[in-house]
Amino acid sequence: MEWNVSAEVIAFIIVLIISVYSRKSHAVPSLKNRVFRLCLTTTLGAIGTNLASTLMIAYAPSELLPLTYFVTLLYFALTPLLGAAYFYYAVAVVSEARPVGRLFSVLSALPCAAYFLLVLANVPTGCLFSFGAAGAYLQGPFIITTYLVFYFYCVACFALVVFTRAPIDPVIKRILAVFPLIAVVVIAVQQLFPTYLLSGSAAACSLLIIYLYLQNKRLSVDQLTGASNRQEFLSMVSIMDEKAQPFTAALVSVSNFKFINDKFGHENGDRFLREFSSYLESMGEARLYRYSGDQFALIVNDAGDAAGRSENDGTAALLAPLRQRLEEPWHIGGHSYTVGAAIGAVSYPAIARTPGDVVAALEYATVKSKSLGPNMPCICTPGMMEAIHRRSAIADVVRRATESGGFSMNLQPVWSESEQRFVAAEALCRLTDDEMGSIPPDEFIPIAEQIGVIADITHFMLDQTCAFIRSYRDEHPSTAFRGVSVNFSSVQFIQDDLAESVLAVVERHGIPASCLRIEVTESAIIANPDAVRAFMEDMHAHGVRFYLDDFGTGYSNISMMLELPFDVVKLDKSILWSVTEDEHLTEFFGLLTSGFAAMGSQVLSEGVETQEQRVFLNECGCDLMQGYLFSRPLAPEKAAAVIAASEEKAR
Ligand code: C2E
Ligand code: CA
Ligand code: CA
Repeated sequence: MEWNVSAEVIAFIIVLIISVYSRKSHAVPSLKNRVFRLCLTTTLGAIGTNLASTLMIAYAPSELLPLTYFVTLLYFALTPLLGAAYFYYAVAVVSEARPVGRLFSVLSALPCAAYFLLVLANVPTGCLFSFGAAGAYLQGPFIITTYLVFYFYCVACFALVVFTRAPIDPVIKRILAVFPLIAVVVIAVQQLFPTYLLSGSAAACSLLIIYLYLQNKRLSVDQLTGASNRQEFLSMVSIMDEKAQPFTAALVSVSNFKFINDKFGHENGDRFLREFSSYLESMGEARLYRYSGDQFALIVNDAGDAAGRSENDGTAALLAPLRQRLEEPWHIGGHSYTVGAAIGAVSYPAIARTPGDVVAALEYATVKSKSLGPNMPCICTPGMMEAIHRRSAIADVVRRATESGGFSMNLQPVWSESEQRFVAAEALCRLTDDEMGSIPPDEFIPIAEQIGVIADITHFMLDQTCAFIRSYRDEHPSTAFRGVSVNFSSVQFIQDDLAESVLAVVERHGIPASCLRIEVTESAIIANPDAVRAFMEDMHAHGVRFYLDDFGTGYSNISMMLELPFDVVKLDKSILWSVTEDEHLTEFFGLLTSGFAAMGSQVLSEGVETQEQRVFLNECGCDLMQGYLFSRPLAPEKAAAVIAASEEKAR
């Protein structure tokens, strides 16, 4: 028989090239990556032995027959293993999304194992192949099983990928489903034209597809710095977690990288990142990852407590050379420039218990590090980990409450000393969870801002507020109650249709817009001056009033505040509390009140808790007061009763 081996030779070269290119020293040793290497090795072995056996059968002298027999036997052993290796690659990919049962994996190996027995049995029986008297190659009666086993694994691979309920990326799913189909088609062609050796081509095509789409270095390596990317970092953490291997992870975030880019240009910025990255790489035992644009992550295996060092000592020792290096300048664009960094670190499993913990702890500690000072690492403590867990638990509660209406509104009445009654109220949001109990707004509002649900909360509060105003005015037609204020958060002023959506709520409840008041803090104004100004002017024209909240807690830009149409300035409770402790400030407080009055804004003092504070405010001419002395925040029905009673009494 004339064999055509050219396709097989090309396939061998392709697989060899893939082997060389896919070799990467710091690739994550995930199951998928290890099985991929197994695929490569078996494919090289199968094609190599196929070629060798074919050529030896054709050209080797009869003295070499035992060797030819052995090589051919090896080829027969490797061919079904090829199918199995690809099948297990698919298993490894699927198991990353959802664990695949061990029993399934073991049972799937049975056809392969049975075939091996057949290969062994070939020696005495010649069931697969044998050599005739003249050294001619003869096919055995069971040769078809070689194809059957190969087809079995192709079909199993296809079925696994198509029918799995594991949440795999549809693109990956398609790729995994296509390669067994290609293999089946190619091998079928080979069966029709047995003189053409094509099994290697089928394997090479499959490997090429896997390599290009699923195993390509570009998918795991950051192109700029050559470090592994964030995805690889996350995989590595998961693998270490599966193996319960203790490690320390650190996140190094370059401070002011944007400034470097702006000052020295993007090219120099890139050059700096490469230099910074290679410094981190050179630090030794730690594995390096580019976590994001200007953040690098390090992972170093912990030896445990053998050295008698505490986790913190180990982490500090790991980071010491970096801190020292950061003291010295880098050469960027012909300049010497010192660059600071925020550094967060955490050890697993001592502090962080899960991969999710590791990531959350690193991000938290890195932010915290910034407040400790330049290059001061923050090593995550059990207390911090607890705070992170609480934060994420609250985030879950907030998300659930947003979806299923778990918030409620309290109202804290505002007292007018001149009218001796409650003239207004502030709407305050409340959140209670079955397990966590009541969660203070100071804690959940910033989280709601971060997870992007604050607009929903404000909308809910607006709706409740307008409903309250409507029902209070309906029940007390002759009331002089002025209205209720709602707190607006700084992050929501970027919403384009904010004014329309607020006015729509007011209209739906059929209340005068002047009964709605909106509290804005200075920090909100400074964060978005133009948006806030436009919103205020628009709403003010419709009659909505504005309160400047928490005055005195920021760096006041008085001229900016005075340009805006605030009806009431709310002095933060900390001002009242510090003033009553320090007599010198009394005069200042009086001046502040009369100053704002002269500018057309009333002053409201928050946090009035004692009779002395009330007397003091009276002396200063501050008419509006809010605080526990008058009323705590109350449920709407209670607040309505308290306000109505005060109106009744004042008549
Ligand atoms: P804030 O706007 O300064 O609200 C006043 C806070 O002071 C309220 O706390 C109130 O219960 C408390 N308070 C009132 N009188 C006294 C007093 O005499 N003594 C003391 N010690 N505290 C007093 P609360 O309800 O815990 O709210 C805290 C903060 O949460 C609010 O501060 C506000 O910034 C935010 N917040 C509450 N509800 C909302 C909301 O619906 N939306 C937004 N964006 N923020 C809200
Ligand atoms: Ca407020
Ligand atoms: Ca306030």
